[in-house]
Amino acid sequence: MIYNSFFKKILFLSITLLLLSYILRLISVHSEEEEKSYVIKIIDGDTIKLKGNKTVRYLGINTPERDEYYYNEAKSFNKKMVEGKQVTLRFDAVKYDDYNRILAYVYTPDGKCVNIEMLKNGYAFMYPHPFETLLFNKMLEAQRSAVNNQAGIFKRILKDTCSSYKGSKKGFRFHRPECQWGKNIHKKNLVTFHAKKEAFLEGFAPCRRCNP
Ligand SMILES: [Zn+2]
Repeated sequence: MIYNSFFKKILFLSITLLLLSYILRLISVHSEEEEKSYVIKIIDGDTIKLKGNKTVRYLGINTPERDEYYYNEAKSFNKKMVEGKQVTLRFDAVKYDDYNRILAYVYTPDGKCVNIEMLKNGYAFMYPHPFETLLFNKMLEAQRSAVNNQAGIFKRILKDTCSSYKGSKKGFRFHRPECQWGKNIHKKNLVTFHAKKEAFLEGFAPCRRCNP
């Protein structure tokens, strides 16, 4: 009897230790995937500079370029959210782009994800790449809300320029019917939209070549 309860205690202790070490390992892996740093400069709506002159490009979104509608608004909003603050960076499957910029989801000190806030308030549209999956659903939810409210850029970019568009389920871009890149989409990946709104509601981004 005594032995029995002794072994039970040992077993209980071993299982607890095993679980604890597993939890600790999870936490340490998680913290390795994060970085904290100070924002020293805002380049535009989706690009910032950190202490040490490192450039960060926000993952999964695209904000207006200098000569485009809502450029200043997007930049100011970004400034208000992060300039001079300590932010937390979280990463997806790919950490650097071809220009050696850090690709990240950026969080404010009070835990808001800037990428999502830009979308929700209509300062950006989704520009997903196949390797960016962590926040896809949350981003889509934010973009849907902006599209349905015609917030910010969606006041303009939902206006239709064609009677239909060709989308690629693989690349998450949509095209004018005559675009060569649209014509090259494999049948099994092809999806047809009859309004830009439909494409944006599914998280598709306009092609940079045919600019639908
Ligand atoms: Zn195109």
